[in-house]
Amino acid sequence: MHDPKKSRRRFLRQSALAATGLILAPMIVGCGNKSTASSTTSAPAAAPVKDRQLGVALLGLGGYAKGQIAPSLQFTKHCRLTGIITGSPEKVPEWQEKYGIREENVYAYDNLEAIADNAEIDVVYVITPTATHKDFAVRAANAGKHVWCEKPMAMNPADCQVIIDACTRNHVRLSIGYRMLHEPNTQKFIGLSKKKAFGAFTGFTSLAGYAGSDPPTDNWRGQRAMGGGALYDMGVYTINGLRYGTQLNPVAVVSANQYRPTEVDVTTEYTLEYANGLMAEGKTSVVTEYNQLRIDAENGWHQMEPMQPYDGVQGMTSAGTVLGPPIDGKQQTLQMDNDALAIMNNQPVIAPGKMGLADVAVIRAIIESAETGKRVLI
Ligand code: NDP
Repeated sequence: MHDPKKSRRRFLRQSALAATGLILAPMIVGCGNKSTASSTTSAPAAAPVKDRQLGVALLGLGGYAKGQIAPSLQFTKHCRLTGIITGSPEKVPEWQEKYGIREENVYAYDNLEAIADNAEIDVVYVITPTATHKDFAVRAANAGKHVWCEKPMAMNPADCQVIIDACTRNHVRLSIGYRMLHEPNTQKFIGLSKKKAFGAFTGFTSLAGYAGSDPPTDNWRGQRAMGGGALYDMGVYTINGLRYGTQLNPVAVVSANQYRPTEVDVTTEYTLEYANGLMAEGKTSVVTEYNQLRIDAENGWHQMEPMQPYDGVQGMTSAGTVLGPPIDGKQQTLQMDNDALAIMNNQPVIAPGKMGLADVAVIRAIIESAETGKRVLI
């Protein structure tokens, strides 16, 4: 007898199989709510499939899942919040009530593998402390589910590669939660970088910080082994921003300084070098506020300022052009719809595992440079 759920699952697996391992240039897919879709810079690479949705299970019901991802998911066209996976049973009733999540779609970490038999869940979105991403992502992939993994992808490049390999082996897709890459003004900024709108590049600046306090050591954000500290948390935006702003891979960390009043860095400064001899100055902090990504060129500049908050991201150029109004809607809504469409339409994802790994390699090189005082090749 025909089982539509099984057919759908088979379709998704087959799509993933065909696309596994593809690490291609980012595409821009216009979707999300009406107003944000119309402000996206390029047409979709393929006609979006509007009548299908993927079932998404959130793994880790902390601040970001509760405050941003679950609410944003409600506005997607192509995703449905069907499941939760949590280590905190006391959180379950509130989530079930708020989002109508069925009892059989609620999992604990120790029975995560049972999700393999659940046809209502296509994607597991890992939203836990960074040091736990690898194990959770691998377990989700081994259960045959597509994986969305929060930034930074993992603690080191080897762990990132383990996640990529698990997804490849299981023929499932992998996206990193780089929301900025889905944000329309940022996409316009990337367009200016790609066409070198102001001529040859001369230098780069990338700053992302907020005026918080030294993270407490009883929270994972204050623990080095868990991926706490400014560089992993905020610095990854500066590193990824330089990647999309320059369209280049850095070749070395020239120098770096980390200010660590306790276990983790609260501020990190670094200088990156590129193969063409250009330099980028980067700075990130959890105690000082700044937020700018700037590309200087021989005939002018373009920049995002602020470059990575949830709302109000703004771009401008030396010609006085403002790249567009802040989007009406959530970056995360666009992100999840784009990632769902990439799975359903068998297209490359915008933020693949390879990109997440490359950024984590830069993080590790910055730490090594700060600790040794030496130039470190990436
Ligand atoms: P929180 O500390 O608020 O929540 C993390 C959740 O992870 C916990 O509530 C818990 O959920 C689960 N968890 C599983 N294992 C552990 C563990 N060993 N220790 C602590 N918690 C654990 O963190 P955030 O939600 O702020 O951040 C989670 C991830 O999302 C990080 O990777 C972070 O970098 C990323 N993030 C991304 C943002 C973005 O803009 N893209 C913004 C903010 C965060 P439960 O109780 O359900 O088990």
